[in-house]
Formats: sequence, structure tokens, C-alpha cells
Amino acid sequence: MPPFESILIVDDDPAQGILLDAYFRGMGITSVASVGGAVEAIDRMAVSDVPFDLIVSDLLMPDMDGIEFLRALKKVGFHGKIALISSLDQTLIDSAKKLGELHGFEVIGTCRKPLTKQVLDDIFKAPHRTTAQASGGALPDLSSEDVVSALDRGELIPFYQPKVDILTGRIVGAEALTRWVTPDGGVIAPGRFMAFIEEGGLVRRLTDCLLDRSIADIARWKLRDIDVKVAINITAKEISDIALPDHVGAVLKNAGVHASNLCLEVTERDVLSFNTVTLEVLSRLRLMGVDIAIDDFGTGYSNLNALRDFPYCELKVDQSFVRGQNNDAFSRETLRAAVTLGRHLNMRILVEGVETEEEWNFVKGFGVDQVQGYYVAKPMAADDFAAFYESNGGVFGAALQAD
Ligand code: C2E
Ligand code: CA
Ligand code: CA
Repeated sequence: MPPFESILIVDDDPAQGILLDAYFRGMGITSVASVGGAVEAIDRMAVSDVPFDLIVSDLLMPDMDGIEFLRALKKVGFHGKIALISSLDQTLIDSAKKLGELHGFEVIGTCRKPLTKQVLDDIFKAPHRTTAQASGGALPDLSSEDVVSALDRGELIPFYQPKVDILTGRIVGAEALTRWVTPDGGVIAPGRFMAFIEEGGLVRRLTDCLLDRSIADIARWKLRDIDVKVAINITAKEISDIALPDHVGAVLKNAGVHASNLCLEVTERDVLSFNTVTLEVLSRLRLMGVDIAIDDFGTGYSNLNALRDFPYCELKVDQSFVRGQNNDAFSRETLRAAVTLGRHLNMRILVEGVETEEEWNFVKGFGVDQVQGYYVAKPMAADDFAAFYESNGGVFGAALQAD
């Protein structure tokens, strides 16, 4: 038996509404209504045949904020339960919860966006617990000095993971992912050292290093007839540097590499901090011919306006939406929403983290353009990437037989 009979979702972001709707329907709840604001919610409650026994509400809405909404709910005599979801600071969400309880409501959970299946399960499948934010994970056993000297010695270098056209199997691009290659040939992944880079204020140095190496690799590959678009990961802080486009332009020019061979990936979680400077930087890079991709789509705020206002070319759906979850309604709806949104905004749609043939076929069914993941190949050193490309004639053949 589903824990709720009739649910009302109140959120001004249509993407979040779609995701929540799919999540509850996946739980077997058939009476789910979605509205874009608090005023509409009160109206809907007045005309609904079945009373809602759960309201899931955002706290920041254009017409009436969540606090006023709670008061309005009391006024209309709402008797059900409430869950609060917001991109605001957790302490603000907690205060709203207290206020809700003072009004006599049972607030079954609160959580900060981004919504993930785990976060929703914690609230709605175990209503006694409220969610805790995910912790950062185990601390690496390396020191900050180790990482700084590795950077100084040029041991942090790009490994390349292919991006493949899902229809033709063509290797059209590669994402440059930093690896620390130690003098004894050991390879260390960024999860173990990125925190030191960030804490030490060294992100820009790392980016410059990756940019130089990647562009040099593109130039070398060109001599072997390997023509791919290389993507570099970049943070919001770096794209708030007004001088970045000129710097990128100079590096490309010196190496004789065309801007269309370069893509910059910014994570969706950074989009909210964008401002006029970032818009100017991204627009100038786009005018130069550099692609901009929005990374980890589905883990951030999915705000339509924020996406529409910036000149992105590629939408990368986060790997959590493909990994072994083919029967999961939440993941399916995210993929569907990503494809609809991407088409609407004229973007290329790539799904990352595809590990198996089954996952490949699953995402192909949604009409995405490109795929990246262990199924094609793990990130490789520059020469290994070139060898992989050449030995396959630039085409990932298994993809074509996969159907
Ligand atoms: P990301 O940008 O989302 O990169 C994708 C990550 O998923 C990479 O991890 C990649 O190796 C991994 N991956 C790719 N395909 C699969 C798959 O099929 N299955 C699984 N389980 N994983 C897959 P990696 O290389 O460890 O990088 C982690 C993160 O570190 C990146 O996430 C990115 O945010 C950051 N990062 C890496 N290099 C740089 C860099 O040069 N600059 C910056 N600012 N961040 C970087
Ligand atoms: Ca990336
Ligand atoms: Ca990603």
C-alpha cells in the first residue's frame, strides 16, 4: 500500500515538478497533482475531489513564499502532512519546518535540492527520518604539499575518455580528466587530490596546465588524422575571470588548433552563481567557436531560465541516471526531461557513465546524441587514446552491433 493517497506538488520549476511526479507515480500513487505556485495550490485544494494527504512544497516561489504558504494552509484548514524542499540554506529550511510544526502540521521531512532518488527515499519511504546531507567521503591520505609539488613537476596530466556518436559509433570527442601520474608510473584519480587543489587555490593553475597539454595533444593527433573535440572541466570561479577568453584564444593560436576542437564543461551546480561577467566570458568563448557543455545535468537546480540565459551547446546527463536503474521511474523521467529540454534549447545531449551494452541500448531509446562511459573506454593517456582511435578506425564498432 502506498504511504499516501493524494499528493500535491508545489514548485515553480517545472523540471522539479516532473521529477517529483514521476517519483510518486513510481511508488504506485496515482493521484498526484502539480502546481507552479502557492496561490494556485490553494485554488486547487478548493476544487479537488479527494483531499490531499501530502503537500510537497518549495519554499521560494514567485507569488507567495513558503512561510506565507504555511499560514495560508492553516487558514484553509489543511489536515495532511507536509514536506519542504528547497535550494535555500538548510538552516532556513529547518526554521520553516519549525514554523510548520507551530501551525500544527506534521512536517515529515525537509531536504535541500538537488533532489536525488536517495534523498527522496529517505523522506518518503522512511517518513520518521529527515535527510542528512551527503558527507564528503573519506579523506585522502595525501598531503597538500605532495599535490602542490606534483603540479610543479608537471605530474598532473590529462587522460582522455572518448565521447561517441550513438548512431554511427564515431569517436567525436574526448573528455580530458586529470590524472596524477607518479614517477614510478602509478596513476591517481582526481577524487584523491582535487580537494587539495581547491583548498590551495590552485584550480586555475591546474586548468591552465590541462589546457596547454590538451591543446598540444590535439595538435599532435591532427598530424595522425585524429580530429576530435576535447572537453576540459572548468569551475564557475574560472569563468568569472574576464581575461579567460583571450588566454584560451592565445593558447589555441600558438598551437595552430581551431577553437571548434575545444569544449569547456561547467557543472550544473555552478550555474546558480553565474552573473554578468560569467555570461560575458561564456558568450565570448562561444563567439570564438569554443563549445560550452553543462555537466552533471540532473544534480543541480535544473532551473530552466538559468539554462536558457547561457549559451550552452551540450547537455551532459549525470551518470547517476543511467547506472543500473533502467526500471527506475525517476531516472527515466530525468532522461526524458533532459532530451526534451536539450532539443528545445538546441543542445547536443550526451549521457555519461554508460557501462554496459544494456545501458547503451537503454539511453539510445531516449534519442540522445552521444555517450561516454566505461562501455566505450576508460580514460586513457594521450598515446593510448590515439592508439585506441586508430585501431578502431575512429569508430566504436561494438555500438553498431549492440542493437
Ligand atoms: P566529471 O567531470 O563528472 O567526470 C566524469 C567522471 O566519471 C570521471 O571521473 C570519469 O572517469 C568517470 N566515469 C566515466 N565513465 C564512467 C563509467 O562508465 N562508470 C563510472 N563509474 N565512472 C565513469 P574522474 O576522472 O575520477 O573525475 C572525477 C571528477 O573530478 C570529474 O567529474 C570532475 O568534476 C573532476 N575533475 C577531473 N579532472 C578535472 C580537471 O582537470 N579540472 C577540474 N576542475 N575538475 C576535474
Ligand atoms: Ca566533466
Ligand atoms: Ca559529469
